[in-house]
Amino acid sequence: MTALNMIQTLGTSLRDLILPPHCALCGRRTGGAPVCDDCAQSLTLDMNPRSIDSDTFPFFIPAFKFEDNTRELIHLLKYASRPDIGHFFGASISEKLDRDLLEGVDAWLPVPLHHVKERSRGFNQSRMVAERLASDLGIPIAKGAVRRIRNTNTQTKLDAKERKINVSGAFRATRDLKGQSFVIVDDVITTGATTSELARAVLDAGGEVRFALAISAPALSDSKEHEI
Ligand SMILES: [Zn+2]
Repeated sequence: MTALNMIQTLGTSLRDLILPPHCALCGRRTGGAPVCDDCAQSLTLDMNPRSIDSDTFPFFIPAFKFEDNTRELIHLLKYASRPDIGHFFGASISEKLDRDLLEGVDAWLPVPLHHVKERSRGFNQSRMVAERLASDLGIPIAKGAVRRIRNTNTQTKLDAKERKINVSGAFRATRDLKGQSFVIVDDVITTGATTSELARAVLDAGGEVRFALAISAPALSDSKEHEI
């Protein structure tokens, strides 16, 4: 083996290590993409604005129906250290999102994680989605505009009322947000308790939440059953 071959082999191994070249759903080789074309096509798009019981933001848009493949990918993103799947979802959303909705929007606001949780996970899954939206659509991420000041317990085992109480006062803006418009980016929106509380922190600082985006919107029973 020549030195060049060795370097190339090493480069390929490193790339495979960083970007697993197999589809996360069916295992087929993809040449680097986290999901193969066939599996990407199997996800059912939603993208229909949905109203929610909140006085802090008007509506949200779930990108995909909560079906098995979508659920599996969200699980990998959140619990198996696969930030590339967040980028995959971000790319899918930016391709389908109605540009008119973004008129006058200043920044994406991925739901902040508490720093302890972010350190243990290694990244913020909503931010991975927002990073791709930012690069594809030319709108920046609101870095550090709002902090999660309480490390709340997981919402997945709670009912709607308990979720509201659990996240109450969990967020605080770090600066004046007067006159600024945001789109919240979340992984899943179920009862909307977290999104609503984050939007409240934006409002309290003088800003506005135009709407929220989520990868999917499981029913409360699905959220509990699948711990998502
Ligand atoms: Zn596949």
